[in-house]
Amino acid sequence: MIRTLLITTCLLTACSHPSREAGQFNLLIITIDTLRADQLGTYGAERETPGIDALAKQGAVFEQAWSASSWTLPSLATLMTGRHARSHGAVDDRRGVGKEIPTLAQTISVRGYSTHGIGSHIFLGKRFGLQNGFEEYDDELVKHYNQRRESHAQVSSERLSDKAITWIDQRQQNQPWFLWVHYFDPHHVYQPHEGLTRGEGPRELYAGEVAFTDMHIERLLQHLGTVGVEENTLVLLVADHGEEFQEHGGSMHRRTLYEEVLRVPLIIRMPGLAHTRVTQPVSMVDLAPTVYELLNIAPPKGLQGRSLVEALRGKSMAEATQIAELEGPKPIDAVRHGPWKLIIDPIDFSHELFNLEEDPAEQNDLAAANPKRCAALLKALQSKLKQAEAGEGTQVELSDTDRASLEALGYGGQ
Ligand SMILES: [Zn+2]
Repeated sequence: MIRTLLITTCLLTACSHPSREAGQFNLLIITIDTLRADQLGTYGAERETPGIDALAKQGAVFEQAWSASSWTLPSLATLMTGRHARSHGAVDDRRGVGKEIPTLAQTISVRGYSTHGIGSHIFLGKRFGLQNGFEEYDDELVKHYNQRRESHAQVSSERLSDKAITWIDQRQQNQPWFLWVHYFDPHHVYQPHEGLTRGEGPRELYAGEVAFTDMHIERLLQHLGTVGVEENTLVLLVADHGEEFQEHGGSMHRRTLYEEVLRVPLIIRMPGLAHTRVTQPVSMVDLAPTVYELLNIAPPKGLQGRSLVEALRGKSMAEATQIAELEGPKPIDAVRHGPWKLIIDPIDFSHELFNLEEDPAEQNDLAAANPKRCAALLKALQSKLKQAEAGEGTQVELSDTDRASLEALGYGGQ
């Protein structure tokens, strides 16, 4: 109904080019830094997260979604390019996304979309390439945070939603748009929020940050309804990675590839498609192909995941293999097929094997008793990595201030 009205309005007012083609949806991608799936009400958390939970009730909730890595840059670069980390090349602090790789923003722009990104977090600064292809990219909050050096004492969710709402309000109805907003507050160092933080321990402070971010995401989502674009906007919400709270002896992230850092919330709300919960394992690399299919846009060559549209329609899909990668002083790869997950050091081949259905907390390493299964998973991993043509990325120069900022976020020495 709304689409019909828009098209009619467009015809009556003789819109100038570019104009919205019949059936073209807007795209809103919301990414949240450091958000564990199990922190949300819709994923079983005791404390509800009303904004995201409401979205989940209307969309498809993926219960077993893997990020591409356990830190921001490679993970979000996989989201934006549809390629594994070693292929887009943004795998350490000095390498950004390869300029030659087509991005969601670039491909979607060609179809007449207005495209805009709003960043927070140093890795969303323009040097790292996540803004490649966006017509406009707002990194004011990235710059602000860089100047402060001491993590994000200046919280940003409220300003991010304000910026997103202002941008949406300025859109002309006759042109489809793609907006990406990255929320950062759940990232270490956790800040208390009056009325929302219920304790002083790291878990309580973290939960307060999530509640605060959820509140502002709710405001943004409700605004879609207020301005009447909810029914022609595809919404995709995902986290870049989770967070450790001593489950395997550590804290924060970018250290391991256990589920507490790899399993992320993933919700896709497509107007016209009913709520569903998807239990099949899926990966961050599948999101670009899914978006292209939902928006009816021909995908660029080189995508390395698969479209999840069948799952969104409530149908089961063939079982697929997921992989995740972590480069650095101690590189690690992970591979999953069905319930089985292998975590392996690609240099000395030391490894662990878990059955995630029986042991979701990964406490019982079954590698010694299952050498054939380990070998099969390793072969599947190597085959995936072989298909992913290695990319060099682009060189990023870091200043002393950058290094101090990274250290403040717990990324020292990488
Ligand atoms: Zn992150």
